[in-house]
This record gives sequence, structure tokens and C-alpha cells, in this order.
Amino acid sequence: MNLGKISSSVDLVSFNNAEESTTVLFFQGCNFVCGYCHNGTIWRGEDDTLTEAGLRRVLANSRKKWVELITLTGGEPTLQPEALEETARQLVGQGFRVKLDTNGSNPEVLERLLSEGLVSYVAMDVKGTLSQYPEITGFEDVGKIRASMNLVRGMDTYEFRTTAFPRYHTAVEIGEIGGMLHGSRRYAIQQFRPDLDGGCLNPTFCQETSYSGDELRELAEIVKDDFEQVIVRARD
Ligand code: SF4
Repeated sequence: MNLGKISSSVDLVSFNNAEESTTVLFFQGCNFVCGYCHNGTIWRGEDDTLTEAGLRRVLANSRKKWVELITLTGGEPTLQPEALEETARQLVGQGFRVKLDTNGSNPEVLERLLSEGLVSYVAMDVKGTLSQYPEITGFEDVGKIRASMNLVRGMDTYEFRTTAFPRYHTAVEIGEIGGMLHGSRRYAIQQFRPDLDGGCLNPTFCQETSYSGDELRELAEIVKDDFEQVIVRARD
């Protein structure tokens, strides 16, 4: 089996309106350069890589802990399409549900996974308004981002999510994101956490202040009519 560059951990996610335990598999490497990214070691592909035996152990432990959901995250998982598809296929074959986290840069890979029924939930990052993508991420092909958004909106269960970084995401940009995704199911506004262990891909970003939970809830109010559900992920 082609496992590519994957590492793992166990975590809690907010999934289908409830907290659910999930095992997280990290696909290393990313094609974006978000300055506030906390996953520097994964972005650079420096984490230990999972072996087949390691994956079997991770899945056996997941079963023991009644974990039924496996999150495939990154970095950006779709950059390793064969390893991603093979892993998802094996997980589904073993009775797990698969959640995919993606930055939306590879709609062709996403489409294949969805058409083969290998993913039951997608969490797609929305880094900003489409015109902000080159500045925030260094990725310019926003047609691909739009195509991924359209694929995700065709699913039954999914979320779009934005890590709100004050320099980029004021009420204006959040409102524009709401308008762009109007009629979608779920939108999560996440707190930027400069205090997390991983630091920031661009260290100067970690010196900037983040929004408080109350400020994020104010941003959520702006887009509450654009989505079936808007949630805020903040520690306060
Ligand atoms: S935050 Fe940006 S740079 Fe970091 S892994 Fe996600 S998409 Fe890649």
C-alpha cells in the first residue's frame, strides 16, 4: 500500500454539531504558504512518516477507543492523490467514516474521492475572499478554489471554515465570504492562536493579536443568514 508521507494523532473534532473523537492522519507537505499556519513541521514534511504496520496499530487503537471517524488532514492531503485515495479506500473498507480537510486547490482529486464515495464529510478552508488568495496563500488559481467549493456544496454534510486573522479578515471580508457561499450548510469561524506550539510559518504573524471570542461571535452575526449554521471555534 502506498502510504506516502503521513503521520498521526488522536484528537477531538466538532462534527455534525457534536464533539466526536477522531483519529487524525496528517499528509505532509502543502502548496500554500499561509503566514499564520501552525503546521510548520508538517508543511515542511519533517514529521515521522507512518508505516503500514503503524497505520494498522493506529486503526486498532482507534477501534479500541470506539473512534469511528478518521480525519485526513495536512498539510494538504490532495497533493498525494494516490496515497490519499488508497488510504481512504482502506478506511472505508474497514468500516470507518472519513473526514477530509482540504484547502481546495485540487478539485480533480476531490471530485474523484467524492464520486467513489470515499469521503463522508469535507471541511474546506476558505482563506479569504477569492481576490485575497494570492496574498494570503501564494496560490493564484482561484478557479480551482471555486470549483472545489461547488463540489463541496453538492455534498450532504460539509463545512467551510475560516481562521480569522485580523489583518486579513475584517467584517468586510467575512461579509463577502458569506455572500460568495450564500445558501451553504455550515460555516465555522476559527480563532487564530499565536500561542500554539507550532508557532507560525512566518514568525512575525505570531506577534499579531488574534480576535477574542466575542469579536468572532460578532463576525459570525454578519453571515448568520448566509448559512444554515454558523459556528465559532474559540477558547474564550
Ligand atoms: S494553514 Fe495554509 S500553509 Fe498551513 S497547511 Fe493549511 S493550507 Fe497549508
